[in-house]
Amino acid sequence: MNSSSFPEELITELKQRSLYRQLRTIEAVNGTSVSRTGKPLVNFASNDYLGLTQHPKLKIAAADAAQRFGAGSGASRLITGTLAIHSELEARLAAFKQTPAALTFESGYAAALGTIPALFGQGDVIILDKLAHASLIDGARLSGAEIRVYPHNRLERLAELLDWVREKRRGAKILIITESVFSMDGDSCPLAEIVELKDKFGAALLLDEAHAIGVLGPNGAGLAAECGLIDRVEIHLGTLSKAIGSSGGFIAGPSSLIDLLINRARTFIYSTAPPPAAIAAAIEGLGVIASAAGDQLRDALWRNHEVLTVTSKSPKREEVRSAIVPVIVGSEEEALSLSEELVEHGFLVPAVRFPTVPRGSARLRVTLSAAHQLQDVVNLREAINTLHAG
Ligand SMILES: *Cc1c(COP(=O)(O)O)cnc(C)c1O
Repeated sequence: MNSSSFPEELITELKQRSLYRQLRTIEAVNGTSVSRTGKPLVNFASNDYLGLTQHPKLKIAAADAAQRFGAGSGASRLITGTLAIHSELEARLAAFKQTPAALTFESGYAAALGTIPALFGQGDVIILDKLAHASLIDGARLSGAEIRVYPHNRLERLAELLDWVREKRRGAKILIITESVFSMDGDSCPLAEIVELKDKFGAALLLDEAHAIGVLGPNGAGLAAECGLIDRVEIHLGTLSKAIGSSGGFIAGPSSLIDLLINRARTFIYSTAPPPAAIAAAIEGLGVIASAAGDQLRDALWRNHEVLTVTSKSPKREEVRSAIVPVIVGSEEEALSLSEELVEHGFLVPAVRFPTVPRGSARLRVTLSAAHQLQDVVNLREAINTLHAG
């Protein structure tokens, strides 16, 4: 390959495999309706599970914080970037997650990338669920620890790996990483069993609650809270960018963990503090999520979920319990063409392909929001059933 033409050659290859991706601009947002090339589409693609990105309280808080503190934070947290609202959000996150302390990052991705290498490294072993998010894989790789993967939710295989570490890597620190709700399938991990295994083998657990926060558990605090296992999870990871309706990420856990991250997490230390508007919006978002209004939004979300899955081929509510409803198609081309046909019908539903999901399991990924109108969900269900009759 000629090194000056390599981007073009790689692009050609991606196109040949139906894996090429392009940015598509949204010109306007109006609730769950977005406008693309002048065409209004109902957005079934965002992770805004409770509709909070459009909530007046969050918008006003963001605008007020920009007025009070500025458009940007101006410096990293350890220099002069720690504003009163950063400390306030962290206190509220700790209360929300019922942990002693919490720390915010620029994004959930940055939280994973900074946290894992701050705690684990060469000589240690990190064991991940096969479907763990890219940020978790990248954080594990960056740490330099030895990496092992178990098939999705197959705990007998996790136990074998833990046995292997005990036999062959004596004295290694062990970290198990899983998501509580999985991004592309919407299913949950068997948390109680994982916690039991982890304790038996003296491993630590990082639980990524990106898709569970706001959706599962009392006050929307996530799966660990729902299972009554908060204190048994060493590292809680979350994002402010999904149900919370703002932007950013966080880690919650013991104070010693947070103190160590302040000293060692490179994505925290060497990056400008998240902007005041995003932090203030997250504070409001948390407030809504943990209130009676949050319970009402979750009820609306589950109602929409039931309506969507009542006759479609998607997994049922008891199996899924999340805002994510995958419709597995198989071939990359077919998933793409279905997604394009849905656009013709006025719905924005992304086709998710390799490498985000395994080859041959391309799918439509419907994400529901509490803000969706019932009729829009009914219409989407009918359109999918008609177009994807096979
Ligand atoms: C979205 C996501 C992240 C990253 O969060 P951002 O705030 O968007 O960077 C991390 N983990 C999982 C499982 C996610 O789905």
